[in-house]
Amino acid sequence: MSIYPCDVHGSRIRGPLSGVYLTLLRGSHRSSRRLRCCPADRDELLASHAKEWTNVDDVDDPDSLGACAVCGASPGRDTATDPLFVNVYHKEETPLFLIAYYCEEHGDRLIKDFKLKDSV
Ligand SMILES: [Zn+2]
Ligand SMILES: [Zn+2]
Repeated sequence: MSIYPCDVHGSRIRGPLSGVYLTLLRGSHRSSRRLRCCPADRDELLASHAKEWTNVDDVDDPDSLGACAVCGASPGRDTATDPLFVNVYHKEETPLFLIAYYCEEHGDRLIKDFKLKDSV
């Protein structure tokens, strides 16, 4: 049995849990969370966000801000978008590095949904 319960379904599983690290960067402000989840919940989480989260390697220029993954608002004078980094680790597998951009509204929703905490 794993030492920790899965953060999604709440109980321990046989075998190792995956680590999913979410970090939303807003200027110098950082909100993040480490989720421990079973491979099934990790896959479901990734599948349900597959339209939003892109493999970092597939982004031409990760330093330039993209449009909001939810509403498509592109960064400009009135709208700002912030990058979300999602790193997925599972035992001996190659880690997965994903990225997405969110406008303020959808970034706020993300913080609420995933209970991201301020960190330094
Ligand atoms: Zn689970
Ligand atoms: Zn948006």
